[in-house]
Amino acid sequence: MTGYFDAHNHLQFYASEAELAAALAGAARAGVAGMICCATRPGDWAAVAAICASRPEVRPAFGVHPWYAGEAAGDWLAGLEALLRGPACVGEIGLDGVRKAPGQEEVFAAQLELARRLGRPAIIHCVRMWGRLVEMLKAGAPASFMLHAYSGPAELVPELAAMGAYFSFGGEVSDPRRAKLRAALAAVPGDRLLMETESPEPGGPSWRRGPAGIVETAAAVAAARGIKAEAAAALCAANAGAFLKTIS
Ligand SMILES: [Zn+2]
Repeated sequence: MTGYFDAHNHLQFYASEAELAAALAGAARAGVAGMICCATRPGDWAAVAAICASRPEVRPAFGVHPWYAGEAAGDWLAGLEALLRGPACVGEIGLDGVRKAPGQEEVFAAQLELARRLGRPAIIHCVRMWGRLVEMLKAGAPASFMLHAYSGPAELVPELAAMGAYFSFGGEVSDPRRAKLRAALAAVPGDRLLMETESPEPGGPSWRRGPAGIVETAAAVAAARGIKAEAAAALCAANAGAFLKTIS
C-alpha cells in the first residue's frame, strides 16, 4: 500500500453527498490512498455500507460505539454479524469511563467475541478504562485490534502490543503540552503505529476537518518520533495493510 492511510474517520457524518465527494476528491489529490470509515450505531450502518460499496479505498467498520450502547436493541447482534460476513472491521466499539452509557461493557464484550470468532479486525475506543480493557482482552482478544486515538499510558504499550494491538494517533501529538500522549507515541513499536483524522469535524483543528488532514497528522507524528513525514506515512500505510490482512 502506498500513499497516506487514515485509520479512523466517520465519513457518514458529512451533511451531503456533495460534501463527501469534495472531501474524498481533496484527499485523493493530497495523496490519501486508503481509510477506514467507522460506524457508531445501528442507525448509521447502512450509510457506511453505502459509502464503501463503490469506493474500494474506503474500508468499512460496523459496530456500536460505547456512547450508544443503549441503541443496541432487538436483533442488533445478528444484524451486525450479517454485515461482518463481508470484508469489514468491527468498530467503533469500546469502553468509556467518562461518558458512561448503561450496558456498554456487555455490548463491547459481545462485539469483541464476534470479532474474534469471525476473524475481523477491531477498532477500539477506550477512555479511562484501561484496566478493564486489558482484563477483557486477556479473556480473549481479536487477532488484530487498533486502539484508536490512544490515550493510555506509555507503560501499558508493551503489554497491549504483546496482545496484538495497533496504536493510532491524531494530529494533537504536535502539542508540546501533551507530554503523556507524546511519551505513549514514542513507546509504540514501529510496526504497530497508525494515524488518523477522526474527521469530519468542520470547526475542529485543521487536521481533523477531513481525510486530507492525514497529511498534517503524518507530519506531526513524524516530528514527534524524529523521522521524516514520508517515512511515517509509508510505515503507517504498510501497518494498515497488516492490520487489515484478514479482510483483504
Ligand atoms: Zn471515532
